[in-house]
Amino acid sequence: MIGFLALLLCAGMAHGEEDVVAAVDARAGEFAAVAQAIWEHAELGYLEERSSALLQEHLAAAGFRIERGVAGIPTAFVAEYGQGEPVVALLAEFDALPGLSQQAVAYRAPRVAEGAGHACGHHLFGAGSLAAVIVAAEWLQREGVAGTIRLYGTPAEEGGSGKVYMVRAGLFDDVDAVLNWHPADRNTASPRTTLANKSAKFRFRGVATHAAMAPERGRSALDAVEAMNHMVNLMREHVPQDARIHYVITRGGAAPNIVPEFAEVFYYVRHPDANILPELWDRVVKAAEGAALGTGTRMEYEVIHGNYNKLPNTALSQRVYEHLQRVGGVIYNDDERAFAEEIRATLGRTRLALGSEAEIQPFAAKDSKGSTDVGDVSWMVPTSDLGTATWVPGTAAHSWQAVAVGGMGIGIKGMVVAAKVLALTAVDLFADAALVAAARAELEQRRGEGFAYAPLLGDREPPLDYRK
Ligand SMILES: [Zn+2]
Ligand SMILES: [Zn+2]
Repeated sequence: MIGFLALLLCAGMAHGEEDVVAAVDARAGEFAAVAQAIWEHAELGYLEERSSALLQEHLAAAGFRIERGVAGIPTAFVAEYGQGEPVVALLAEFDALPGLSQQAVAYRAPRVAEGAGHACGHHLFGAGSLAAVIVAAEWLQREGVAGTIRLYGTPAEEGGSGKVYMVRAGLFDDVDAVLNWHPADRNTASPRTTLANKSAKFRFRGVATHAAMAPERGRSALDAVEAMNHMVNLMREHVPQDARIHYVITRGGAAPNIVPEFAEVFYYVRHPDANILPELWDRVVKAAEGAALGTGTRMEYEVIHGNYNKLPNTALSQRVYEHLQRVGGVIYNDDERAFAEEIRATLGRTRLALGSEAEIQPFAAKDSKGSTDVGDVSWMVPTSDLGTATWVPGTAAHSWQAVAVGGMGIGIKGMVVAAKVLALTAVDLFADAALVAAARAELEQRRGEGFAYAPLLGDREPPLDYRK
């Protein structure tokens, strides 16, 4: 068994891969400082000026060529190093979430009252990908082989669909493989799907009047919202089981004695297949039109975002998994273990045990009910998946516990695991043309013949002020 493992390690650690791992370790302090700075900036979608600039600064210092403000988004960028094919790309997210500001302590305590926080770990996402591309670039230079490594600075993942505009602008057209990752409460390279997701704000306009003295003169915009919601709720019985439809009423009137002149409802519609989603979407729009007709109001809607479902790529993910097994999971020191135990006490019931952060989850296809703008990228370019234990096992994304560990050693250790795995897989792709071809063949087979990309959000411009 030991002989077999040694053989496996020798086979895997070809072309200077131990140097790649050592290079990540050697510069871990620098990349941790980048993550920490972005964690402190905690900038919201499309407003990530300092976070984006910091990543670009490190890329420029490492000799990357940078195109800034791409796809009409000031904080989006494409940085590249090297020449020729294959073109291997990583993604760097860096937007925070509103209302989730949190100190790096094991109890709820905002850093800034009602401020933003990195509850999805995008500061680690950005800095970990930065580490991987810089180390891969150093390898390209050392080995003197052809190949281009890119980092896409992708703003506003949280509801802003930043990547979709970048895909729509053709920025991914010449990429051979995308190595995607995301902070998680476990180590996994399982290929996963997500739900396609389209959203819009439906706005109704009626006639205001005194609700008691002259109700017959009014036309309630809130009635229209309620009628729409009722129709959509009836519709739930007649949609595919795996659809998800949810809404919030964002404007419902000012006072009960005024018939609401204006009301707004914000809808998300999700389905596992981006090709089926538009049929569901059209029915929701019909319900809105019917509601306006029946209540004597006017309706218009604005599409806010739209993400394709994520296509898995087993060929690429399998290779990521092999590297993840070699690199291994996250090992806490005594302080980190004590911190993790305190966090665990706040989590409630969870099936994932403390200690599992050191293990690698089995390789198995996974269906997530979430959505991401990586979906659109995955229909254009073979895209792998990776999650590393940047959070204490059992922690949910978008929680204060995720922010807390993201600001201390636990988050950084998970990020370093990801950086090593990503750098190793990137280097593999430069040395293994068969893997690049297999990943491409799988993409073509999965998306089917005659695929033509049409973004779910249509031709709208990036909503640069959606978090203002
Ligand atoms: Zn998120
Ligand atoms: Zn996220």
